[in-house]
Amino acid sequence: MPVLPQIAERIDELTAIRRDLHAHPELGFQEYRTSAVVQDLLTRYGVDQVHTGMGATGVVGVIRGKGKGPRRVGLRADMDALPIQEATNLPFASRTEGVMHACGHDAHTTMLLGAARYLAETRNFAGTAVLIFQPAEEGLGGARRMMGDGLFNRFPCDEVFGMHNNPNGIPGLVKIKPGVAMAGACFFDIVVRGVGSHAAMPEEGRDSIMIASALVGGLHSIVSRNIPPTKSAVLSVTRFNAGNAYNVLPDTATIAGTVRYFNEEVRELIECRIKDICAGLANMHNVDIDVDIRNVFDVLVNDADLSNAYLAAAAEIVGADNIRVSDDLVTGSEDFADMLKAIPGAYCTLGHGGTIPVHNPGYVFDDAILPVGASIMARIVEKRLQI
Ligand SMILES: [Zn+2]
Ligand SMILES: [Zn+2]
Repeated sequence: MPVLPQIAERIDELTAIRRDLHAHPELGFQEYRTSAVVQDLLTRYGVDQVHTGMGATGVVGVIRGKGKGPRRVGLRADMDALPIQEATNLPFASRTEGVMHACGHDAHTTMLLGAARYLAETRNFAGTAVLIFQPAEEGLGGARRMMGDGLFNRFPCDEVFGMHNNPNGIPGLVKIKPGVAMAGACFFDIVVRGVGSHAAMPEEGRDSIMIASALVGGLHSIVSRNIPPTKSAVLSVTRFNAGNAYNVLPDTATIAGTVRYFNEEVRELIECRIKDICAGLANMHNVDIDVDIRNVFDVLVNDADLSNAYLAAAAEIVGADNIRVSDDLVTGSEDFADMLKAIPGAYCTLGHGGTIPVHNPGYVFDDAILPVGASIMARIVEKRLQI
């Protein structure tokens, strides 16, 4: 693979950075150490400006090219880890109990640092590269929070590009799905407020477990009975908590879960149905049911032209045989979608030699791909901001 030579020769350095971040994972909005490492390295690399504290722990670096030009390209990496107990037995495994870089964001951060060093040294572009290290991708809304703190007002971008590693065993395979690519997501919490009673005298209460059980069945009917079969959506109940004794019917039961969708009408319909079903059951059993539904990620939409440009840049690094235009929708979500809603751009996946899926306690990232990811990110800046 014709990885940019100045980046290829730094594979040991990149691997060391990645493994250090891996050993010290931090959950969303708590990436204090990670953020400090990023700031320190960007400063040492001679990046023109380094701004911190955006979206709590986010960092933004700015590099101006040799050539003058008004255009600005953003590159984004995420920095947070997951609440998972690592089970890899690697020498650089997580040193923090119950927290693990199981989605490879340690690698994304490292690849963007690799691109930053190269871009700061070579500056073979006309305009400005904006390096966005964002916190809290895993469901906590780090992208939104950075934008809420004025990310694109303070550091305007004409285009933004992001990347995610894909442990599919095919090193260097780059894929993009142009257009609608990944699902938007809502999280919901429901509290059934029944009336507790002795388990032997249910007639004296209103059984929250029975009502919540019926509610789970009702919620699972929404996608199959209300969404047109030609449209996709997922509703999963992921949590059901109630009771703690053999002889007590608890007064409350709580349910939580997620909805994934690919268009706004479907999202609105599902939200309405969740509320209607809860209201109907509440009425039927003469109880209160509280519903809280929150949109957490937008639908990820890749700009068609910029998807092609990103693949063309990647082809220069991984070869034309290793790029793919995908037409598979992904029901997973990604909060870079929120940035892509504000600024046109594209998001690709980069295959590597790992074979255990992300979010698994045994997930292992393949460090050999670090220079490839860094080179693709650097190259898209040079191509989009050609001198
Ligand atoms: Zn993840
Ligand atoms: Zn991820």
